[in-house]
Amino acid sequence: MADCVFCKVVAGEIPAAIVKRTDRLLAFRDINPQAPAHMLVIPTQHVASLEQVGDGALLGEMVLFARELARAAGIAERGYRVVINTNPDGGQTVYHLHLHVLGGRSLTWPPG
Ligand code: AMP
Ligand code: ZN
Repeated sequence: MADCVFCKVVAGEIPAAIVKRTDRLLAFRDINPQAPAHMLVIPTQHVASLEQVGDGALLGEMVLFARELARAAGIAERGYRVVINTNPDGGQTVYHLHLHVLGGRSLTWPPG
């Protein structure tokens, strides 16, 4: 997708702090972190939002990838949060599916 910021990250056209990469998935640090650890997991192929996902296996891979990242970052034992903001009321601002992995502090609930 030509005008998609996360497709540009995948293509290396926008710099990002890459954490982990496979053929199908990419993880990088959120540019505006909301916690000491805040990473994003995206599919390398463009999918606009959770509403457009047809491949449940992809979502499973993304969630397990997030767990690997949390473990590698040393935040898994104390705990972390995995979030998919979806569409306007869900707070989605970038329309390329992404999963937030947040941790490194005690997170409050409910979210704002
Ligand atoms: P959402 O509001 O769920 O769509 O989240 C989009 C996230 O992408 C926000 O947390 C932004 O800080 C983050 N973000 C936007 N552009 C970039 C970028 N170029 N590199 C890293 N993170 C970004
Ligand atoms: Zn995209």
